[in-house]
Amino acid sequence: MSPKLRTRPEPATMVLLATESSDWIVLEPGLESYASEPWNRRNLTGFAVATALGAALLGASYLGVSSEVQLKDQVPLLDLGIAGFLVATAGGVGWLAAGIKAVRVRKAAAVALVRSRFGSVEVAGPAGPGEGFVAAARMTRYHRPGCSLVAGKDVSAATRAEHSAAGRRPCGVCAA
Ligand SMILES: [Zn+2]
Repeated sequence: MSPKLRTRPEPATMVLLATESSDWIVLEPGLESYASEPWNRRNLTGFAVATALGAALLGASYLGVSSEVQLKDQVPLLDLGIAGFLVATAGGVGWLAAGIKAVRVRKAAAVALVRSRFGSVEVAGPAGPGEGFVAAARMTRYHRPGCSLVAGKDVSAATRAEHSAAGRRPCGVCAA
């Protein structure tokens, strides 16, 4: 009996690559999994503490300045308010930076997984002469003709330069 030939995976199996339970995204059993929220408890605590501290400093500054008549007495209290604003801003920037970093890590893992699964499909895809890259009218990215993400879609071919001129960027999955 001959061993079963491995056929290339159907594009439909892509939906099975990521399953999301209540709290975790599991890209594939045995591979790394990531919390579905990009922020963890430490990020939340940091943001909450910075916001609360900033608000307290601003409040103290406002009340302090209001109760002083002389400008020279108001200035140090105004500095307190500026410090409060900076603390709150730093908390917000840190929060956003942590979220962006977490999303980048997840995206890289997902793209690497899809590439490892579908890389051969893209290479084996139809590649006629002068075909270039394909995209549909409203797509923001262009793809290699064999890319799983355009399978079954109504796309038209154009050169890389033409897609770029239309404001499209290369697909991250098929490395167009
Ligand atoms: Zn693609």
